[in-house]
Amino acid sequence: MSSALPEHGSPWSDIEPRMRDLAKGDVKWRDGRTGMYIFNAGPDVEHVQKTAYAMFSSENGLGPAAFPSLAQMEREVVAAGLGLLNAPAGAAGAMTSGGTDSIFLAIKAARDHARAKRGMTGALNIVAPASVHPAFDKACMVMDIELRRIPVKNYLADISAMEAAIDAATLMLVGSAPCFPFGLIDPIEALGEIAKRKDVWLHVDACVGGYIAPFVRMNGADLSAFDFAVPAVSSMSADLHKYGYASKGASTVFFRSEALREFMTFDAGPWPLGRMITPSLAGTRPGGAIAAAWAVMQHLGVDGYRTKQREVTQAREKIEAGVRKLGFDVLGAPQLGIVAFSHPTVDAFQIYAQMHHRGWFTAALVDPRALHLMLSPKHNDVAHEYLADLAASLGAVSGEELTPKYAG
Ligand SMILES: *Cc1c(COP(=O)(O)O)cnc(C)c1O
Repeated sequence: MSSALPEHGSPWSDIEPRMRDLAKGDVKWRDGRTGMYIFNAGPDVEHVQKTAYAMFSSENGLGPAAFPSLAQMEREVVAAGLGLLNAPAGAAGAMTSGGTDSIFLAIKAARDHARAKRGMTGALNIVAPASVHPAFDKACMVMDIELRRIPVKNYLADISAMEAAIDAATLMLVGSAPCFPFGLIDPIEALGEIAKRKDVWLHVDACVGGYIAPFVRMNGADLSAFDFAVPAVSSMSADLHKYGYASKGASTVFFRSEALREFMTFDAGPWPLGRMITPSLAGTRPGGAIAAAWAVMQHLGVDGYRTKQREVTQAREKIEAGVRKLGFDVLGAPQLGIVAFSHPTVDAFQIYAQMHHRGWFTAALVDPRALHLMLSPKHNDVAHEYLADLAASLGAVSGEELTPKYAG
């Protein structure tokens, strides 16, 4: 009988080398040549992550009474996030499995709040800049909400177009801090003005910015207000497994008040065990992800994060200066860890293919066609290699384009 499950088990000593073998085909992210998926803060952080994860990988955050350790770690991680994002006293939050999860839960809370408190029982919509993450589409698909993606202006939320798109069925306004495609922080204060005027819930998606922007500001950058400092912001999402340098499977969702957070809670049943009341969509919650996030925060502290995020800033500044020298246009004025750039004459996709051939695993934008980098502290060490390969790639592509001129 054949089965994917081996007939007989093996000791770990046999399994580990096979897994190392499997990983040989993966991108070599530790050398810094990966500009997506990975947040590489160095071997010390990786060690803390993995050790803490392993310590609690069997434990379950579903049972705070059984695992007060995890409950305490979650409370402390949430409190740290709320503090970094200027939340007022009485604000609340929870850990989730990722940004998509956090966004889903913020929308669920806003929807249930609108139904209960604003009498919005019919069809609903969300008004967002076209640059918001597809997690909003997914949540809207599941919850039967219309997502109105409004074209951006200079790569940022177009305030007047968004205001014009609001109607009586608008449940939520969204801004990103920053958006993933361009790495730019939407004008959150201006969105806050509309949200206040129209009495609409404002969510700030700081999935990829929430744990870098506060430290970049501490390091001296002049960032416009993007968090709970803007009074109309009702909820935020911020991913620990991005610039929080936590293990994968960790994000946070925050609400201005406990009263708003309560709309996130699921009170389900009865089933044979009675009612099941859970803070979020998850049943079982991975203890490892909670523990790793907490441990990395303890390991880095404010000064550790400031140092890591300064390295990201330095990497971005080097890359920006270098690509400009090569004739690229940086899209907007990025201030955090993401930068996108296009070329006025050479197709970004051809350059992308060249870079991929040279071992760089990064993203590209289709509208407009542009190269995209999500930078880690490690990239500060390899920015010069990236730029040298980019110059060579540009030369190779331009050379190809010149070929017909000289042919024959
Ligand atoms: C990464 C990201 C998300 C989604 O987070 P996941 O953890 O991948 O589910 C949402 N919004 C923004 C801006 C992001 O960068």
